[in-house]
Amino acid sequence: MTDLRPPKGFMFDLDGTLILSNRELGEYQVLPGAVDVLQTLEARGIPFLALTNGSAYAASVQAPKLRKVGLPIRDERLFTPNSVAAKVIRDRGFANVLVLGTQGVVDALKGHGIACCVATNESAGSADAVYVAWHPNCTMEDIHAACSRVMDGAAFLTASDVPFFATQAGPAFGYSCAICGAIARVTGKEPEVTGKPSIHAMDFVAAQLGLAAEDVWVIGDDPRVETEMAQAGGAIGIGVTSGTTSREEWAAQAPERRPHLVIETVGELLTGGYLPD
Ligand SMILES: [Mg+2]
Repeated sequence: MTDLRPPKGFMFDLDGTLILSNRELGEYQVLPGAVDVLQTLEARGIPFLALTNGSAYAASVQAPKLRKVGLPIRDERLFTPNSVAAKVIRDRGFANVLVLGTQGVVDALKGHGIACCVATNESAGSADAVYVAWHPNCTMEDIHAACSRVMDGAAFLTASDVPFFATQAGPAFGYSCAICGAIARVTGKEPEVTGKPSIHAMDFVAAQLGLAAEDVWVIGDDPRVETEMAQAGGAIGIGVTSGTTSREEWAAQAPERRPHLVIETVGELLTGGYLPD
């Protein structure tokens, strides 16, 4: 047990925390304890959700794939930076978003009712926001179009600004970070992140759970992603060692990325008696 503020709800990271995917994002392996924890939370009616920084698919596409490998997560409990981006775009009233991302990203935004285009569309020239997400086949035409719009005053948003994320085969390259680097170098403007560790993402999580951030335990494997978001947003940050970060590396984090508690896997939430009654 612990003297930490007890949780009223949980946010789980996906890669390195609940699952590991392969580098092509096609196959998943469920991490130890993940099934038991989610089943228990569901059975006890404790609020929880999963927020990945992966933007390759809409949640409604990814959740069924996760259930297929045994992770019991309903569509409505899974969120991506696309979900957060859609809220930011709606709130600010952007009319036409230039997307640097796969068809999966475009479909996800359209699924949220967002009007968007890609660089080869004529309407790209009038986009009032640029959104950079999972885009393994990004071309110079994409980067050029994005730079033109950002220099013309369009908002510059990205799903993730993290250079690497955990997979079964070790760290994989975060494409949006590299693409944003190119756009930032040219335009002199830095992107606004919609995924973790942004305050947009933390606010979104708390609102979805119907809780104050301080009552949420944010559980993840990356100090620069989940823990930094929890610390900045006033939530409780829990580090796991099942992904990119070892116990020694967790212990070496600066205060703004230091977890309140380190556990081996999410299964320890049960075995360690951390769930609320
Ligand atoms: Mg992770």
